[in-house]
Amino acid sequence: MFDLTAVARHYPVGRAWPSGGAILRAVDGVDLSVTPGETLALVGESGCGKSTLARLLLRLERPTAGTVRFRGRDLWGLSRAEVRGFRRQVQLVFQDPYASLNPRLRVEEIVGEALDIHRLAAGQARRQRVLDLLGQVGLPSEALDGYPHQFSGGQRQRIGIARALAAEPALLVADEPVSALDVSVQAQILNLLQDLQAARGLTYVFISHDLRVVEHVADRVAVMYLGRIVESAPVGDFYREPLHPYSRALLEAVPAPDPERPNALPPLSGDVPSPVAPPPGCPFHPRCPNAFEPCSREVPIRAPQGTGRQVCCHLWR
Ligand code: SF4
Repeated sequence: MFDLTAVARHYPVGRAWPSGGAILRAVDGVDLSVTPGETLALVGESGCGKSTLARLLLRLERPTAGTVRFRGRDLWGLSRAEVRGFRRQVQLVFQDPYASLNPRLRVEEIVGEALDIHRLAAGQARRQRVLDLLGQVGLPSEALDGYPHQFSGGQRQRIGIARALAAEPALLVADEPVSALDVSVQAQILNLLQDLQAARGLTYVFISHDLRVVEHVADRVAVMYLGRIVESAPVGDFYREPLHPYSRALLEAVPAPDPERPNALPPLSGDVPSPVAPPPGCPFHPRCPNAFEPCSREVPIRAPQGTGRQVCCHLWR
């Protein structure tokens, strides 16, 4: 559905760019595919490039290099009409249901806006369509006339999902969709997203820093570090045996469910280096417990490791 080839998004830092100024490498040479019907989880610490990658998928950012293709078409070679079609097919579910809904609009207007933009329904049919959407996300019909502040966090996220579904998309990019919610409400929203996926055949790109959440929703996991995908793997393989040292460190940072059996490895130390001045060689080498001779000077290349799995590490050449 999506095919990314050597995608980079760099930003100038200071005035002298491109003639010698610094460059922030938010996304730096990403190859990635998203197949129809799957949930691909993008994981990594904050600042690793996940949200920039999401903006590239949504055509909100133009790649500095490489191509982002959706259903075989380069997003930046589309005609104006094709861009409108793309905007309908790919929708965003925001992280913060508090900030993403216009507080001055009633729910009918918030959800109905996409129907207007894409000319999908008008008049009584529009109202009925909004009611149907509210029902699909588990909200009562009375919600139609409410304002965002009258709803709980979970209900607001349901409104946000109804708004995204109004355009009848094929793919949802969900950017930390449950991280602002209480744990009990998180499970309800995740179940809702899974039910909607099964009913509508949706494809999800699910962005999260929470590996406990990802384990429950993802079919495939792609781990980002300093703008690069360092490991991608089917979810079962990833959680059973993460191969990249950074993947292992991320999983070790997830609190052990059994306090009698603490995590086996020490937690990851040090901060993520600046994407303005990434370390030479493997960008993870200053924090890597397994770093060895070539790591500080040679950039590791992506290598296949079994079915559907790729790892970017000198240990796995
Ligand atoms: S390439 Fe070297 S430094 Fe990088 S993750 Fe692998 S072992 Fe660690």
